[in-house]
Amino acid sequence: MEFNVSQLLREPVGSTRTAILDPEDPVHRGTVELVRVPNGVLVRFEADVFIDDSCSRCLAPFAYREHVEFEEIFQQQVDPVTGVRLPAPEDPEDFRISLENTIDTREAVRQYTEVAAEMQPLCRQDCPGICPECGQDLSMAACACDRTPIDTRWAALAALKSQSPP
Ligand SMILES: [Zn+2]
Ligand SMILES: [Zn+2]
Repeated sequence: MEFNVSQLLREPVGSTRTAILDPEDPVHRGTVELVRVPNGVLVRFEADVFIDDSCSRCLAPFAYREHVEFEEIFQQQVDPVTGVRLPAPEDPEDFRISLENTIDTREAVRQYTEVAAEMQPLCRQDCPGICPECGQDLSMAACACDRTPIDTRWAALAALKSQSPP
């Protein structure tokens, strides 16, 4: 996910390159479009990624697929024609084109993949999880614990009813 843009940087604003991404963890497949903009290169990135995680119910490790899309400007640090060093970007968090005129999208992909990841991933939608009483993995075997939820609202209503006059 590294792209050499030394040629693109010498071209007028609006010049474009597109590329098919090679599979590289976590990217499964995708495309990238590089557009010359006045202060660097706009990267339009779109890919299916595989996210390694563990199930939030049963804790089993598993991987799932997400779609990641972003547009980020990678700022140039040197004038591509004169080679003169340009003033540093105001925000040190900004993405930059390396001094060797390459764009490395790995850090951006990592950040956007993190955002795309589910907060509570499930190995399958109906994963029964782990018994809170005995710790049995319920997708492997049932257990003898009584896990009938006690709904306190109904209990309160029943109490009210029994108090009301006939
Ligand atoms: Zn699970
Ligand atoms: Zn149990």
